[in-house]
Amino acid sequence: MTVIKSEKDIYKDLLPQLDKINFKQILWGEDLVNYKLVIYPQRITDIPYYKKISKNMVSIGIVYINPGANQKVKPISVMLNWSDREIYIERNTLNKVWKYLRTSVQRGIDMATVNRKFIRIITPEDILVTKYIKMTKTDFNKMFHLPEKGRMNNVSGSDPEKDYIYYYTRDGKEYHDKDCEEIRNMTPETVCTAKRIPIGIIPCPKCRKMLYLRELCKPFYSDMKDVDRILTRGKIDEKQVKKLINSYGMRMHTDIDGNLIVLCNEDVWKIEGLEHGSFSLWHNNYVRTGQSDRKKTSGYHIHEIRKTTLEGILKYISGYSFEKHLEAENLK
Ligand SMILES: [Zn+2]
Repeated sequence: MTVIKSEKDIYKDLLPQLDKINFKQILWGEDLVNYKLVIYPQRITDIPYYKKISKNMVSIGIVYINPGANQKVKPISVMLNWSDREIYIERNTLNKVWKYLRTSVQRGIDMATVNRKFIRIITPEDILVTKYIKMTKTDFNKMFHLPEKGRMNNVSGSDPEKDYIYYYTRDGKEYHDKDCEEIRNMTPETVCTAKRIPIGIIPCPKCRKMLYLRELCKPFYSDMKDVDRILTRGKIDEKQVKKLINSYGMRMHTDIDGNLIVLCNEDVWKIEGLEHGSFSLWHNNYVRTGQSDRKKTSGYHIHEIRKTTLEGILKYISGYSFEKHLEAENLK
């Protein structure tokens, strides 16, 4: 049987070097098979939805291996959005290290294949999210020295904020999601678009569910299908979705393992076990910083509740607040 050694074992003697460097968490290239690397042009704050995700960001280190250098194992500093396993990396930083990192990611893929572990990627380039860097396909492939088979086809992806568009006709009574089939039947001259829900007209019954899902999953539109599947299986209907959005400001998306991530008020929740209908609820970690204050830290802890339906869990989440948590604690 083929055994592919982990770089963590190969270079373990060099680890003391890394210990001196102050990172709360270190990831190796081979670990990245379960993450996404989101490339940003210059400043991370340029990402359209940065404000929304910034509270879940922590600074971590990624190590890359350059066998020819004196210091073979070196870290770079990146930001991790731990709730989605998305790592934000600046374009020039990635450009400098990708040729080394790529080899390690490939090793991670090979290790998963040999150990029959499921991962969602086929080539190392599959972890790269390129939609925020505006450059041509050719420039991108040149910049990252991508080999023929790992070449990017969809470099300038869509901008989530721009994706959020309602369609309607000048004389129509309904507005539509941008993917609604009805749009094709409109006369081009009468088509109008709006970034906000047009006033005085109602959502089209055909795409109403899609409109709610888009709102619920904003800005993670690529997760809409997964979220829809989860909600349908959990018997959460359109009306309930509308309530979750409008009354509780709830947002949802899925993580790389297919778990449901729920954002509500100040808290992030992860619901596991959706496939088997035996739910477990995880709550974002935090440390107490005073009598009634807390500060969120990375990761989740299990949250013991007795709920057997998705509806029950979502109801619980929508009613949770740290203040209530404190009140309950004081009554004990
Ligand atoms: Zn429609």
